[in-house]
Amino acid sequence: MKAISTKKRTFRLKWKLFAYFIAFILVTLFIVWLLQIVFLNRFYQNTRIRQVYDIAERVSKDIKNDNLRSTAIACATDYNACIRIFLIDDNRATELASVEGAGACFIHYMNYDEISLMYDKALNNGGDYLQTFEFNPYSSGESDASNEENDNSTVSDSDILYAEDHYSSAVLLRAITTDTENSYAIMVNVDLLPVRSIVQTLKTQFIWITVMMSVAALLLAVIASKNIARPVARMNKTAKMLARGQYDVKFEESSCTELAELATTLNATASELSRIDVLQKELIANISHDLRTPLTMICGYCEVMRDIPGENNAENIQVVIDEALRLSGLVTDLLDISRLQSGVVPLKLVRFDLTGTIHEIMQRYDKIITHEGYHISFSFDESIEVIADRTMIMQVVYNLINNAINYCGVDKAISVRQSVTGELVRITVSDNGIGISPENIAHIWDRYYKTDKPHKRATIGTGLGLSMVKQILEQHGAPYGVQSTPGVGSAFWFELKIADSN
Ligand code: ADP
Repeated sequence: MKAISTKKRTFRLKWKLFAYFIAFILVTLFIVWLLQIVFLNRFYQNTRIRQVYDIAERVSKDIKNDNLRSTAIACATDYNACIRIFLIDDNRATELASVEGAGACFIHYMNYDEISLMYDKALNNGGDYLQTFEFNPYSSGESDASNEENDNSTVSDSDILYAEDHYSSAVLLRAITTDTENSYAIMVNVDLLPVRSIVQTLKTQFIWITVMMSVAALLLAVIASKNIARPVARMNKTAKMLARGQYDVKFEESSCTELAELATTLNATASELSRIDVLQKELIANISHDLRTPLTMICGYCEVMRDIPGENNAENIQVVIDEALRLSGLVTDLLDISRLQSGVVPLKLVRFDLTGTIHEIMQRYDKIITHEGYHISFSFDESIEVIADRTMIMQVVYNLINNAINYCGVDKAISVRQSVTGELVRITVSDNGIGISPENIAHIWDRYYKTDKPHKRATIGTGLGLSMVKQILEQHGAPYGVQSTPGVGSAFWFELKIADSN
């Protein structure tokens, strides 16, 4: 069967950036095109129609004032509008003001009958009547007044003609009745089409904007890729060297925060890998040394027993057995730590007597206490039961006591204390030895970590002790820690939940 390749297709960052920039520009241009070209007339006409009402409002406020004419002139100038104002009296219309300002004016060409017709419509329509007029200079029938009527004072889009080749205007007639005798008619006319040359200019500009923005996108993509892609490529090259085991590499920091952070992280990783590499080599050297010592003893004793008559005695055989046991313990511990670290050892949680278990452990140290002059004490107030993996917790206590033996002071005094706080029992193993400096204290739980302190040969253990302690206690979810002062001593502790009494 043919294997299907799942490798994802990749693109160079430069081209990806360029594609994103182009996409962004296309969206921008599309919006500009919509607003400036497609909807220009519509926007313009809606704005103009709002202005017609504004003008009528401004003029109507001054309808009885002396400055009516100057207000009309100001409005006409501000909005390019034509304005006519009439006083309607007994069906007679007297023109009060007339101002011209629009390009396409219809109201100044309307006769009084037409005006009066619009006035009546305004009265019937609640005061305002809006009508659009258009005039097509290119058509044969050149007359005006193709009109769309409006029965409402607000105008909907469909009521307005949007033809570019027409001159088109909106005309509003506002009928005002101030008192019983006097009524007024305000007529406002504004152009509805923007000047055609402006539209043409915008279209030409649009083409130029498109060209310039595309060039800008390409340039930006090149600059951005120079700032992003190149440092990434350099980092990739350095990372490949790191992958080949060259741990002394240095990742260059760039001006981009994320890349600078990545460089810092990779530099930290490189130095950590280099440290672990050194520690691993040291560990192998230590383990080889630790394995060789008992082997040399075993070989030496066996040769003596073979060659020298009378040396084949029980005492020498015991030495061989002890050394073989030590070897076996070493190998077991190595296997344990690797299994613990790979997480394949499930916890066997049982309820057991923690105090009794520690007592049992203490008995194993009887020999060392008698022969080598160590003082190992165990103090407790009451017997405590916990639910945990008994063998693993024993391993933790062994490791802590072994370390205390290895690093204790000249007084050779080690104390194991059991104390109860609330629902937790705390086991503390302390010594008055060399202690641990603050800069080392954070690392002592790491795999393969060893400070440069003088290291006596452990009675039991492999030198991976604290890493194993950490693995076990974390698997139990048990708090642990150490208080240590260089030259004064260390106190390693861990806590377990006390099992319910029932
Ligand atoms: P090892 O004891 O074989 O070096 P461990 O993992 O048990 O390995 O301990 C790691 C390091 O922690 C030791 O190298 C030692 O520097 C420090 N350490 C552990 N226990 C003590 C202690 N009781 N007093 C001082 N230093 C200690």
